[in-house]
Amino acid sequence: MQKLCLCGENMSLKLRTVILSGKVEIDNVPIYTCQTCSRSEVIPEVKDDLKGFIQELGEQPKKMNFLFNERNEWANLLVEYKLTKKTAQTAKDQFDQMMKRRTNELLDLYLLAQSLHDHDWLESIVKRLTQLGAQIKSS
Ligand SMILES: [Zn+2]
Repeated sequence: MQKLCLCGENMSLKLRTVILSGKVEIDNVPIYTCQTCSRSEVIPEVKDDLKGFIQELGEQPKKMNFLFNERNEWANLLVEYKLTKKTAQTAKDQFDQMMKRRTNELLDLYLLAQSLHDHDWLESIVKRLTQLGAQIKSS
């Protein structure tokens, strides 16, 4: 969960609020930040989704608040993860476990949506599974 900054220091992962055009507040965006040189970047796992979201908002967005974790599985896991008690040694294991559990949950929902022939739901589940890196055929 750490990344090396261009300045050589470790960047730490934090959930931050991104403000667009002074109007739209997006909470819980996972961002790497460096305390030494203040560089920050959105983690690669959520970058495309965040970009897509900003595009959906268009050029003249209304004033509003969003929880990014409600549409992105990575952000969601990180929010949940932040709430769990942990020690440094087991942190990575714990996160992996949470990710596995969430993937299994989504796979169960996937089967359910499939049996109900609910295509919209199916599509949204596939999207979430893809965010977690799961391979799934949407046909
Ligand atoms: Zn730095």
